[in-house]
Amino acid sequence: MTTQYDYDLFVIGAGSGGVRAGRIAAGYGARVAIAEEYRIGGTCVIRGCVPKKLYVYASRFADEFEDARGFGWNVGEVSFDWPTLVAAKNRELNRLEQAYRGTLGRAGVEVIPERATVAGPNTVRLETSGRTVTAGKILIATGATPWLGPDIPGLEHVITSNEAFDLPALPKSIVIAGGGYIALEFAGIFARLGVETTIVYRGDKVLRGFDEDLRDRLMEAYTKSGIRFCLGHVFTRIEKTDAGVVGHLSNGETVTADHIMFAIGRTPNTRGLGLEDVGVERGWNGHIVVDEYSRTSVESIFAVGDVTDRLALTPAAIREGHAFADTEFGGNPRMVEHTMIPTAVFSTPEVASVGLPEHLARERCAELHIYKASFRPMKATLSGRDERMFMKLIVDGESNKVIGCHVLGEDAGEIIQMAAIALRMGATKADFDNTMPLHPSSAEELVTMREKWIAPTEAAG
Ligand SMILES: Cc1cc2nc3c(=O)[nH]c(=O)nc-3n(C[C@H](O)[C@H](O)[C@H](O)COP(=O)(O)OP(=O)(O)OC[C@H]3O[C@@H](n4cnc5c(N)ncnc54)[C@H](O)[C@@H]3O)c2cc1C
Repeated sequence: MTTQYDYDLFVIGAGSGGVRAGRIAAGYGARVAIAEEYRIGGTCVIRGCVPKKLYVYASRFADEFEDARGFGWNVGEVSFDWPTLVAAKNRELNRLEQAYRGTLGRAGVEVIPERATVAGPNTVRLETSGRTVTAGKILIATGATPWLGPDIPGLEHVITSNEAFDLPALPKSIVIAGGGYIALEFAGIFARLGVETTIVYRGDKVLRGFDEDLRDRLMEAYTKSGIRFCLGHVFTRIEKTDAGVVGHLSNGETVTADHIMFAIGRTPNTRGLGLEDVGVERGWNGHIVVDEYSRTSVESIFAVGDVTDRLALTPAAIREGHAFADTEFGGNPRMVEHTMIPTAVFSTPEVASVGLPEHLARERCAELHIYKASFRPMKATLSGRDERMFMKLIVDGESNKVIGCHVLGEDAGEIIQMAAIALRMGATKADFDNTMPLHPSSAEELVTMREKWIAPTEAAG
């Protein structure tokens, strides 16, 4: 490391990737500064995973109160207070933000609370103070931001996930545009809190990319819980009226609600960063193009996390940031494997997957064995809740390896995290079968599936 520059590393963005990279690099003795224009912790902590999961917990009490009756509980009248939830969430976020700040401070990372842009291969401009600083290496970890789609009239009336967490009051109704995990999670949260919820999506089925069985079953469960789907349409215009926010759809119909929330995608935060001037190559949606070591087209500039549009998940950003620091400052070159990544949708019922969905497995394997189980979870026997748990294993017929595992139902995310270890290690169906079931549990179904599932057409033939 050299004293030719003010810092050895300047990180732009104190989110999941930036904080990890800065802290680890400082641990190797690098002189590190990190600039943050909003709040330390980034999307995940401040307006993503953490508040989202807290709200999911809040929403699920609605079912718990109902279910408790079947187990002998006398549940009196219950009520929900949105401002109490928002305030509790804010206290927790403040605590986490302080914890992040403390971690950075103890690691010796200088936190600069302002927007930063790239002014040269080794130069950063601090936009509020107007200062310019230099660094041997610059790491861009600016994340992503909600994308609102084509510019249609009235877009200023819509909210995004950023605002949804802090609405001044719980709406009576909400229309959510989008079919990805953020749209579905918020729909699940609001619907269970008693909000009349409609999903507007341009496709014919939500959760594109997930296994078809999970997509179908989640839509079925959502419809049963009262969530309305308006599929195959997009918004053409939004207006605000006395009756609420009105969305005009491409089929000529309108939807009206207290809020219309857009969750149709996220766009990498690269606008105005000064990347064009220094020649950092960018991709189709503005993301920063990097190699497997998170190197950009400019030798001294690197990028990790959502801004690179590789895998927009917190653990990926953290691992990319860590690997970057190990490689550039720790003398331990390493890259992050972006395969066999477990992922969950915190809808209710929850959905989680690792490995290949059936449609991709069919493209890649000559012979495929599918195992499916759909059953009533034990809790539902006494609660009387009309719900089913679903599990699916996809096995490569040649190697007998389990290459896909998909779960819908309670604790799907927790189950899939563990299954991911087995799949990553190359577990075969026989390994699953030879594993002793843990009884009584739902997850035991994964090691007791014996009958191959036969597609109805094959069965008929
Ligand atoms: C509603 C929602 C729910 C989510 N749920 C999950 C989940 O359950 N699981 C999961 O794994 N992922 C989830 N994600 C995704 C996850 O939050 C991101 O993948 C992760 O935060 C990416 O980390 P990052 O470091 O790339 O960027 P971020 O965490 O977004 O951090 C970027 C930081 O850079 C700052 N910044 C931007 N530009 C500048 C600038 N010029 N100068 C200074 N600072 C700047 C921003 O303010 C921000 O703090 C969710 C996201 C959302 C929106």
